[in-house]
Amino acid sequence: MSPVRLTLPDGSVREVPSGTTGRELAESIGPGLAKAALAIRVDGQIRDLSRPIEADAKVAILTEKDPDALEVLRHSSAHILATAVRELFPGAGIGFGPPIEDGFYYDFDVPRPFTPEDLERIERQMGEVAKRDYPFVREVVDRTEANRRFADDPLKLERIAELGPDETITVYTDGPFQDLCRGPHVPGTGRLKHFKLLHAAGAYWRGDEKRQMLQRIYGTAWFKKEDLDAYLHRLEEARKRDHRVLGKQLDLFSISEVVGPGLVLWHPRGAMIKWLLSRAVEDDNVASGYDLVYTPNVTREELFFISGHLPLYAANQYPPMAAGAGESEDTRYRVKPMNCPMHCLIYRSQQRSYRDLPIRLSEVANVYRNEKSGTLHGLLRVRGLCMDDAHIFCTMEQVEDEIFLCLDQVDRLVRRTFGFELDFEISTRPEQRLGSDEVWDRAEAMLTRALERKGIPFRIAAGGGAFYGAKIDIEFKDAIGRFWQGPTIQLDFNLPERFELEYTGADNRPHRPVMIHRAIYGTLERFTGNLIEHFAGAFPVWLAPEQVRVIPISDAQAEAARGVARRLKTAGLRVHVDDRTETLNYRIREGEMQKIPYMAVIGQREAESDTLALRVRGTGKKQEVMPVDAFVNLVAAQVQARALAP
Ligand SMILES: [Zn+2]
Ligand SMILES: [Zn+2]
Repeated sequence: MSPVRLTLPDGSVREVPSGTTGRELAESIGPGLAKAALAIRVDGQIRDLSRPIEADAKVAILTEKDPDALEVLRHSSAHILATAVRELFPGAGIGFGPPIEDGFYYDFDVPRPFTPEDLERIERQMGEVAKRDYPFVREVVDRTEANRRFADDPLKLERIAELGPDETITVYTDGPFQDLCRGPHVPGTGRLKHFKLLHAAGAYWRGDEKRQMLQRIYGTAWFKKEDLDAYLHRLEEARKRDHRVLGKQLDLFSISEVVGPGLVLWHPRGAMIKWLLSRAVEDDNVASGYDLVYTPNVTREELFFISGHLPLYAANQYPPMAAGAGESEDTRYRVKPMNCPMHCLIYRSQQRSYRDLPIRLSEVANVYRNEKSGTLHGLLRVRGLCMDDAHIFCTMEQVEDEIFLCLDQVDRLVRRTFGFELDFEISTRPEQRLGSDEVWDRAEAMLTRALERKGIPFRIAAGGGAFYGAKIDIEFKDAIGRFWQGPTIQLDFNLPERFELEYTGADNRPHRPVMIHRAIYGTLERFTGNLIEHFAGAFPVWLAPEQVRVIPISDAQAEAARGVARRLKTAGLRVHVDDRTETLNYRIREGEMQKIPYMAVIGQREAESDTLALRVRGTGKKQEVMPVDAFVNLVAAQVQARALAP
């Protein structure tokens, strides 16, 4: 056989006979590598070690150290899970079983949901399958053979029927189990050592609500025990911080079956947080040269035909409503899924000159999107959302400075206010797009320059932009290391075109403005959900719904306690007096459960000396006696500065 030239990561070249497998290559390099080898990257494509290499290529043997190897292990783990399930539940139908972030899942068609006890048994069985160290064997089969192999698996047959005539069909077998799968896989089931099944949940076949409900088992797998332990600890932390649990415990919000899924009822304490966030962004908008506008929640649907959102995105909108009284029968209204088209109309309501630009319209507004009920999740994914929305209309020359100002707002309202670490990404022109290459060149350059001028490092998602313009996406990292979607700054060449927006240039001729969509907190639902989890419900004092709780030790100090509360209220603080006849310890314990930043205890000594005994959240039983005036000043200053204290 003729030799092939394989270039290794260190640049060295090996000549090996054509048809040499990844495993043979690893063995020829050294026994240590052969033992550690999990898969091989051939010209960027990850493959099984057992596959022959038939052409010159750049290759790299993957070991545990390579992040891509973890994905291969997790995919193999999904197969091992299915192997175990089939051994325990021979009649289980199989759907898909891919690797996902931090783990894997597999979907099964079974007559009843899996119980926690089932999961324990399955996990033990996976250990058995791993111990047997079955090799993962890849076979290329033709369609007839594939149909024969999966004759008892209707979901697999459905998938086979969809494969194009030229597609290579591959089957992977480990011991008694075989799966229709593209691979790649680790050499054998014995590579799975540190794993855990996490939970099971119903999932529609192919995510389609009209198809049958399957049972999805989620698991996680790692190469090292300490990585598995750290991950499980992180999950436990996340569970303790779950905003749906804290939202109930702290009485922040609820979602009622009567109102509908994804529609949030903000209780007084949650509403206070939402109002403070809206106010923070509105104050900043006004100070940054934005105008405030208000637009209605419903509109004739004609508006969205002009904007192009209909019929294209009809599935994401609520269906139309009948005409208003006295209007023609065929007029239809919709609740609005976005504010942009209405802001375009406000822009268009007047002749605009280049001297008027930029025009910055902002609105904290409710919009409604018909998200699939299965995707809804507490405050993080909702149907009724309140956006801190804004649209900037400017000339092409002004784009860079406007982006720069948006980045300033992000810096003030997200990074400095909450101490979040931010991650920036520019999404550039996609294949299908509106506007000339020249316009895109300029737009992308301006986004890049604005970030560079602020000294912000960023990544580029090549081709990730919308068809109507490039954008900057910003993620922020929470207290347990998770990244969340944050502010977005999106250029738009499309809506100005569709709404025929114009301004008169210095040349006295009409020109099209550029539109920038930007949201800082995004939706107040999601951002509040993120904050609840980030702070584990212990909000900084400026954002805490109740900032100070004043607790008289006995009835004799009730009047003094009310006096202290009055002084705090006069300073603009949110105070509550707990003068119930419960024991002091009981009342303090309750304040702790509600994560109140400050509790001011008033005993006889304090009442007589105009002081209070202060308990600061998170410092245990420690109490500090301080003059009432000093305390009022301390808290007021922290609120004023939006400090992250206490
Ligand atoms: Zn697979
Ligand atoms: Zn918009």
